[in-house]
Amino acid sequence: MKFGCHVSITGKVHLAIDRAIARGCETMQIFSGSPRNWRVTELDSRDVEIFNLKRAKSGMDPLILHAPYLVNLGSPVRGVYEKSIRTMMATVKRAGELGAAYVVFHVGSHGGAGKEIGLRRVGKALEKILLETPPGVVVLLENTAGAGFALGSTFQEIRSLLEQLRWSERIGLCLDISHAYAAGYDVSTKRGLEESVSQLEEVIGLDRLKVIHANDSRAPLGSHIDRHENIGEGFIGLPGFRRIVNHPGFADLPFILETPRMNPEDDTRNLSIIKGLARS
Ligand SMILES: [Zn+2]
Ligand SMILES: [Zn+2]
Repeated sequence: MKFGCHVSITGKVHLAIDRAIARGCETMQIFSGSPRNWRVTELDSRDVEIFNLKRAKSGMDPLILHAPYLVNLGSPVRGVYEKSIRTMMATVKRAGELGAAYVVFHVGSHGGAGKEIGLRRVGKALEKILLETPPGVVVLLENTAGAGFALGSTFQEIRSLLEQLRWSERIGLCLDISHAYAAGYDVSTKRGLEESVSQLEEVIGLDRLKVIHANDSRAPLGSHIDRHENIGEGFIGLPGFRRIVNHPGFADLPFILETPRMNPEDDTRNLSIIKGLARS
């Protein structure tokens, strides 16, 4: 497996590579632009060139793009729905430009319209997005904690999207460990982890799992609250993460940290802790 973290693109996009190297990343995740903005701003071609050069030299792989938080492909509000589709298309195109293998996005929220309607909207939106974007980029559905009207907190809901998209090879799963725990999958215990992985295998298939978001959870099991915590300091704990990183079902996957960050040292520390667990 490979370990990395989510790094900032503030300043110039290629500075993200320097930040990832400084933290000890072997793989990395970035936002396509401002996470709280609809627009994916144009990149300077020279900056893209430098980005690609730096990344090739560093061997940082895979590169993962995270879509802005505003994107909601399940929204019953037409304006939001359409803007979400446009922003997702721009993000997937950006991934192609930067050589990113994956775009991760949150399945979304049905806004009160009901899960079935919401999931159908997400499926239709994804169909459009895949049609108009570079075929080399795989779009990953990130499981959610399941708060309020959130979609995609269960493997069954994610499967229903894969079915709608006729199991397109361009759709996969990004499993966020803290979201899964908050959604009720007890990945903190040996037995709970085995059960969760075998459910994942049965319902979705482990071949669809492409990225792990390795975050501990500050919120309890089944609370549906999305609160990331440092590795080992939350409800999943160090023994839980030791089993997770060494689980054969997760072998060879990129593990991306999205743990709380006050300063860059926080990432370095979390990264060295999780790398240590993989060896032990
Ligand atoms: Zn996310
Ligand atoms: Zn995540």
